[in-house]
Amino acid sequence: MTKSTAADRIEALRDEIRHHEHLYYVMDSPEISDAEYDVLVRELQALEKEHPELITPDSPTQRVGGKPKEGFPKVAHSRPMLSLDNVTSEEELRDWDRRVRERVGEGVEISYVCEYKLDGLSMALLYQEGPDGSAQLARGLTRGNGTIGEDVTTNVRTIRSVPLSVSAAKLRKAKLPPMFEVRGEVVMPLKAFVKANEEREAQGLAPAANPRNYAAGTIRTLEPNIVAQRRLDFYAYFALTTTGETIFSEQSDALDALTAAGFRVNPHREAIHSFDKLMGFVDRAEKHRADLGYEIDGVVIKVSSTDLQARLGYTGRAPRWAVAYKFTARAGTTQVEDIKVQVGRTGKLTPVAWLRPVVIGGTTVSRATLHNADFIEELGLKIGDWVKVERGGDVIPKVVEVVEDTEHSRGHTTFHFPTHCPECNSEIVRAEGEADYRCVNADCPARLRESLLHYSSRGVMNIEGLGEAVVNQLLDRKMVRSIAELYKLDEEKLLSLERIGEKTARTLLKEIEQSKKAPLNRVLYGLGIRFIGERTAQLLAEEFGSMNALMAASQEELERVNEVGPRVSQAIREFFDEETNRRLVEHLRDAGLTFTAEKRKKSSELEGLTFVLTGTLPTLSREDAKAKIESAGGRVSGSVSKKTSYVVAGEEAGSKLDKAQELKVPVIDEAKLLELLNGR
Ligand code: AMP
Ligand code: ZN
Repeated sequence: MTKSTAADRIEALRDEIRHHEHLYYVMDSPEISDAEYDVLVRELQALEKEHPELITPDSPTQRVGGKPKEGFPKVAHSRPMLSLDNVTSEEELRDWDRRVRERVGEGVEISYVCEYKLDGLSMALLYQEGPDGSAQLARGLTRGNGTIGEDVTTNVRTIRSVPLSVSAAKLRKAKLPPMFEVRGEVVMPLKAFVKANEEREAQGLAPAANPRNYAAGTIRTLEPNIVAQRRLDFYAYFALTTTGETIFSEQSDALDALTAAGFRVNPHREAIHSFDKLMGFVDRAEKHRADLGYEIDGVVIKVSSTDLQARLGYTGRAPRWAVAYKFTARAGTTQVEDIKVQVGRTGKLTPVAWLRPVVIGGTTVSRATLHNADFIEELGLKIGDWVKVERGGDVIPKVVEVVEDTEHSRGHTTFHFPTHCPECNSEIVRAEGEADYRCVNADCPARLRESLLHYSSRGVMNIEGLGEAVVNQLLDRKMVRSIAELYKLDEEKLLSLERIGEKTARTLLKEIEQSKKAPLNRVLYGLGIRFIGERTAQLLAEEFGSMNALMAASQEELERVNEVGPRVSQAIREFFDEETNRRLVEHLRDAGLTFTAEKRKKSSELEGLTFVLTGTLPTLSREDAKAKIESAGGRVSGSVSKKTSYVVAGEEAGSKLDKAQELKVPVIDEAKLLELLNGR
């Protein structure tokens, strides 16, 4: 392809990708499949690789850039980012409305715009004029202290609903100048939050408290690729000139313009003229709150007219023309009836408070996590105590404090953490420096149950229909004694279970069959190795490319993967050194799992493997064999050690063969080596 046709194709691809990203990330209504989208991106990446001089900063391939070198520079805001005055009742809102009307004077009609108050962190995005009259994202600033914010541009760029550029055509349609500032809220959607917390748990970290804190922490992370993984979102709500003046004469026009320019603007907004309708909006928002998929903590009511806004002005800390109606926190008070300990798939023991059921934010809560033994001690919690419980979004409710007042009696029963696993009765251990106790019995039924549930869950092996009800029955009837035995189930066995008809059985078998094609990273994640969450599994799969290479990797080699430190590499080694686990992998392979790596950084089949050659091979000379192994990414070593992956033995093999047998290193022949090289 000539350079000019390549340039045309690149531009066309970018436009198309931007269009589909907008549909997917902003409108939530994709028109093409993920696979079709990937094809477009890959074509663009390939062309850009061929013509690096044609890469522009606003190309969809350029969201994740280099790390910020020295933290985040501090930059002054064009105009201070203020906070909002709060009201928490209809009465207070009525007072506020009255004050507004008094100030603007009698007879002046007021139109309010009601918006959801998104619970995240505010962000100011600066767009500057780029080539062809487009606007290019130049900077993202946090609120900071309101006057001076932190420049977190590298991280903001990774948020897919933030346009890296707005074309001249779109600007025209939106009636926006090529230089402007957008203010809005960065939020972490609940799905992303729940996933991130699962990941943290898999890594043995305490879960993050709530999506807002996690979003705020994420935006200040020095690793843009981590920020990209966390799937933050951005909602725009103000359009300003670069000197901080309002661009449109009505707030409702500003929101429409931002929408037209391709920003995500929260669809739940309404222009309202009467007080009664304001309260109606607030009530509806509060009811709607639980189903949104992101957190809101109230409603923001703004005077729509910019002229009136100017007339109303500001107090020291907040505009007089806007107010936040804050919802009451989703917390409740109830009594702890019991504390029970649950066993997770890694054997981790989590104490859970069994509560007298209480309705919090429209949901009945009867359990709350107590994290670990230390947490109970810090709370000073006894069974029978009254406690304050908080619920945030989809997250497991948490006990936040013991209520100590005259209305609530204190409990009497001190909780003693068990010394033995409540499910299998084997002794439990607490490793030095760790907060958690765990059951280390590999055959613990609770661990098996949790392993099966984890393995089949969405985002792991996606075996729809293999939920708790089925798993419990399978275990009770000893039909499944390991993950691999899932693949031995047949229709007859499933039909013998309760509440399973022919149709369900067939669908489930189809799902199980389907899971055999799951890529390597999912299987790895599914195995439930300590500290290996979804992301680490992905990185390992990319780096090693095959189950064999990974299983053979030394701790040192494992640590080549970014984010894999000694603790994680040790956990992986321990897992694969365990005979039962190695057998499990073999059984999965026998069952037909393919372990194919989805994305391969290196196309080398033997990456991470070390070979020792001994004896005379039938067709290959020593040098040929060595060259072939090395060009496939493997290593050839002169002596056999525990780290040797394979000894390749030919005629008249010598002491190396004995050594291999002594150390239980697999011995293969030339035919098998060629098979490995051809990437079976
Ligand atoms: P507060 O932090 O409670 O004083 O509330 C003010 C903050 O609400 C602002 O700094 C914004 O970050 C946030 N906010 C959330 N949604 C909106 C919205 N639709 N309009 C304006 N501010 C909002
Ligand atoms: Zn146990």
